[in-house]
Amino acid sequence: MRFKTRQQWHRLWFGFVLCLLTIARCTTANQQQKDASANQAIFPKGEKGSPEYFTGNAWNYGLVPADSAYTTLVGNVYFEPGARSNWHTHPAGQILIITAGIGYHQIEGQPVETIRKGDVVKCPPKVRHWHGASPNSGLHQLYIVPNTEQGIVEWLEPVSDAVYYKQ
Ligand code: MN
Repeated sequence: MRFKTRQQWHRLWFGFVLCLLTIARCTTANQQQKDASANQAIFPKGEKGSPEYFTGNAWNYGLVPADSAYTTLVGNVYFEPGARSNWHTHPAGQILIITAGIGYHQIEGQPVETIRKGDVVKCPPKVRHWHGASPNSGLHQLYIVPNTEQGIVEWLEPVSDAVYYKQ
């Protein structure tokens, strides 16, 4: 195909640039759609959780340190889509309050529960469990760990894809 005039060249380039811009816009929109919960964050992201204890990207932001007056630890975790904690136990249990997004929680031996904004989840003392985001939505959870004089968390092995994607 030959272009006879400068105008035809210009038209071709304009079309090409427009095409690129459209692709860029769609890609950005998809990324945002992937985790709409990211915009609903109440607290700063905080620090990235160690890959030793988390699969994918999880962010921890401490809110109340466990001192001798409170012996209660409060903080926020933001799990990006697909991210989850390792299996773990809390010597004195844990309470989760979900503030945005969609995620999963599982106590060993029980089915995986879907958890959403507004849900309150209790993890009983010394029970193996994990929690995290769903594959397509992030999860923002406030965690409350009481009686920290008994300990906070005991980390175990990662949650395999087979377990994570089972539901
Ligand atoms: Mn827990």
